[in-house]
Amino acid sequence: MAQQMGNQPLIVLSDESQRTSGKDAQSMNITAGKAVAEAVRTTLGPKGMDKMLVDSTGSVVVTNDGVTILDEMDIEHPAANMVVEVAQTQEDEVGDGTTTAVVIAGELLSKAEDLLDQDIHATILAQGYRQAAEEAKNIVEDIAVEVDEDDTETLESVARTAMTGKGAESAKERLGELVVRAVQSVADEEGIDTDNVQVETVVGASIDESDLVEGVILGKDRVHDNMPQYKTDADIALIDTAIEVPETELDTEVNVSDPEQLQEFLDQEEKQLRELVDAIVDAGADVVFCQKGIDDMAQHYLAEAGILAVRRAKKSDMKALARATGANIVSNIPDITEDDLGFAGSVAEKELAGSEKIFVEDVDDARAVTLIIRGGTEHVVDEVERAIEDSLGVVAATLEDGMVLAGGGAPEAELSLQLRDFADSVGGREQLAIEAFADAIDVIPRTLAENAGLDPIDSLVALTSEHDKGHTTFGLDANSGEVADMQGQAVEPLRVKTQALESATEAAVMLLRIDDVIAAGDLKGGGGGDDDDEPAGGPGAGGMGGMGGMGGMGGMGGAM
Ligand code: ADP
Ligand code: MG
Repeated sequence: MAQQMGNQPLIVLSDESQRTSGKDAQSMNITAGKAVAEAVRTTLGPKGMDKMLVDSTGSVVVTNDGVTILDEMDIEHPAANMVVEVAQTQEDEVGDGTTTAVVIAGELLSKAEDLLDQDIHATILAQGYRQAAEEAKNIVEDIAVEVDEDDTETLESVARTAMTGKGAESAKERLGELVVRAVQSVADEEGIDTDNVQVETVVGASIDESDLVEGVILGKDRVHDNMPQYKTDADIALIDTAIEVPETELDTEVNVSDPEQLQEFLDQEEKQLRELVDAIVDAGADVVFCQKGIDDMAQHYLAEAGILAVRRAKKSDMKALARATGANIVSNIPDITEDDLGFAGSVAEKELAGSEKIFVEDVDDARAVTLIIRGGTEHVVDEVERAIEDSLGVVAATLEDGMVLAGGGAPEAELSLQLRDFADSVGGREQLAIEAFADAIDVIPRTLAENAGLDPIDSLVALTSEHDKGHTTFGLDANSGEVADMQGQAVEPLRVKTQALESATEAAVMLLRIDDVIAAGDLKGGGGGDDDDEPAGGPGAGGMGGMGGMGGMGGMGGAM
């Protein structure tokens, strides 16, 4: 960046810096954003294609999941990354709708480009887009349908819709049931945290054999072979300190010159361990989960008492166990009482996917559950797992908000219709921006049609005509190829759409308002702005033309 100080230009950027300004910056950012949307567009909807992504180490991911594709693509361009963030926000907020959000963002940028070419200022565009997004939110809220929290049928339909087109599709009936049961189990007064649903994947069986364990599965085995392999009606102790004699005492130097003294010391140690184990036994525990280590001698005493013990349990497993069994996590073992214990009808060591695991099941009120997802190969299970994560997210969002929208492009068709009316009522130059927004939203039904091998124009015409008649839940049924009432067939939580509209608009507006890109170093990837016949210093260098008289500075001009 140079400023005139008298005749002397002030160079404040290093040689490696690159600057792109004005229209070039805008068009570079728009191109980068569009490229990201283009990368995921063909995966949208139940008939969307999958992508095979191969990383630098050669490991392969086959997926249809927008956010996964973009994460694996390792995108470097800063503007492109802002669109990738749209997918990430969507993933964090709802867990589904990532492709939708990115495709809308790309189309908003594309429509903006046309208006910028017609000399509509970016500020007007941004304002119009924001107004349109605000109105869009009202429109989808108006057409959303209420769902009761015990309307299992609709919840399962929501779960299945999120799985369509993914690897999980073939078993979506069974999986939909499991997902809804899982989310209903973990719901509590404070809402729903889907982290309380653990997902375990097992390679080597059919997806249909997936199952839900209402409780916790730990990837551990019992600590001593003499311990029982299972316990029924088990009282459970959770301990987050080691069942050992504190180290400081072990380190004490012992005077070995006197054998009697050594024996006394060892006896003392044994006595302390015995006391720790006795405290646990006296409290009435049948099973002990310890987050730290368990001394060999203590293991022996626990086995003698017929207790099943597990050591070095993960902290997250301890939390899940506390939730599921109702136990308190105890830190000071001598203080443990019966009240600290939790309960499970069954604790058993069983084999799962070729290794021993501890299953803690038959609890009174699970509140922490484990989904066991099976599938033929590792790539299949991984993709099913991603579909399940999406599905868990939408079911949770539906339970929390109690509102759903019909799928298959129904809300988008309604939006573009109503937004055009809204644009007329606004008038002025913003009207053009709002119309552009309405056009952009059409990209969803259009893409759903394209990906299903249908004629996008015919489909859009048929869809619009139903919405003209007031049929707000009519969408494109990708299976039959017809426009039909999608309520009850494909349903999504309202939040998927409101969040997608919000984050897509935010990203588009943010990119449009940028008229200067100053980068310390090269701008790599995605960019369309690197026009080949530009001088090395990029378009910004053009402004330096007037400094030809500076002789030696000429070379620096291109470097700013
Ligand atoms: P996203 O990452 O945005 O969730 P998906 O590939 O999951 O992308 O596709 C979601 C879109 O597919 C939504 O618009 C949804 O309404 C639509 N959809 C789901 N099931 C059907 C169906 N049976 N027919 C038509 N569209 C469907
Ligand atoms: Mg989806």
